[in-house]
Order: sequence, then C-alpha cells, then structure tokens
Amino acid sequence: MTFDLLIFPVSIWVVENKGDCFLIDTGMSGMARYVVEHYLNSNQVKGLFLMYRHSDHVGGIPQLRELLPDLPMLIDNREFPYISGRKPYPRREKPESLTFNLSEFTALDSLQAKEVLKQAGLIPVFSPDHSPGHTCYYHAEDDVLIAGDLLTTSRLGHLKPPMKAFTADMPQALKTAHDLLQTYSQTLISVCHGGEVANALEEMEKRKWYQKK
Ligand SMILES: [Zn+2]
Repeated sequence: MTFDLLIFPVSIWVVENKGDCFLIDTGMSGMARYVVEHYLNSNQVKGLFLMYRHSDHVGGIPQLRELLPDLPMLIDNREFPYISGRKPYPRREKPESLTFNLSEFTALDSLQAKEVLKQAGLIPVFSPDHSPGHTCYYHAEDDVLIAGDLLTTSRLGHLKPPMKAFTADMPQALKTAHDLLQTYSQTLISVCHGGEVANALEEMEKRKWYQKK
C-alpha cells in the first residue's frame, strides 16, 4: 500500500502466505497500524520485516506495537547502532530522534528470524549503502524484489537514485543496486518511494544519472 504524501510516496508491503500476513516496513507515524486496522485481521499478522531505520520506514512502529505488542520485529543487525540511537548514521551529526529498545528486535540472521522468513516466503537481500544495513526482501514465488530505498522512481515511473540527502554512500549504493539488478534481471522491482519497475537493469543503465557516475 502506498501513502502519497505529495513530497514523495511512502509504501509499506503486506505479504500473505497460507492465511498469515507479514508486514514489510511501517511507513511513518500511524501508517502500518492504519493498514492492519483497515485491511487485515490483526491476529493474522505474524511478523514485521524492516528495511532499515530511517523514520519513513520505522516511524509507524509505536502505534503498531500498541495494537500488536508481541509482533516479532526483524532487522539486519548492522542497523542496531542506529535504531537504538547509539550512533548517528554516516554523514549525520546526531543520532535519529525516535529510538527503540534493542531487546524488541530480532536480528535477521538469527534462528527465530529464519523461521519467520520461511513462513513469509521471503529471502533477505543485504543491500548497502543507502544505509549500512539496508535490506531488500525477495519474494521468490511472485518473483518480486521488495527493494525499499535501493532506488526510487519518478512520478512517471522512471528509475531514479535513492534520495541523495539521506544516502550514506551514493557510489556504493548505486553499485549495490546495479549488482542486484544483474542478479534479479527478470524480477519485478518494487520501491518504497515510487512504484514498480520491470526490466529494471535496462532501465537503470539507460538513465543519465547512472551513466554519468
Ligand atoms: Zn525511505
């Protein structure tokens, strides 16, 4: 589901498998809870996968947790310093303002996380460096890469780089994106800020911002 904030759209995803539902990201304040309350049955929701810690991805956690206090929340452990406010992101002076207690999160490489990933039919794809622990999720059955902020798209659906002001290391982020699109060249790409892109590798290679790199 996409919330259009006019400055940019923000998506969160629901993956359904055998009647169970799994959320990917929470959007900003209240968004994930809105989706659960309006479109799902809250006891169907069995896990929350997070891409990384920016506020437009984790900002909906507090309201979602009021509704689902025991929901497993999974994230790459390379995001732990930022989600807990221990460290600022690269190129930032201060840690993020909304911080969380690390004991509430499960690292994606743990046994518990592997079980939830299996139930959801998702494969985590480590994809720095929009942020150091940025993670995409691949849904093999539908052949869709839920790509978060690996890339964005314009209103016309053209691929664009992730937002510069919020990207830790742009050359590395673009290298990761290009490498991944080679691996997933036949896959539909679904980004957080924008829409879905088919033939994303070809799309990326013909864009000026990539050629100029
Ligand atoms: Zn974002």
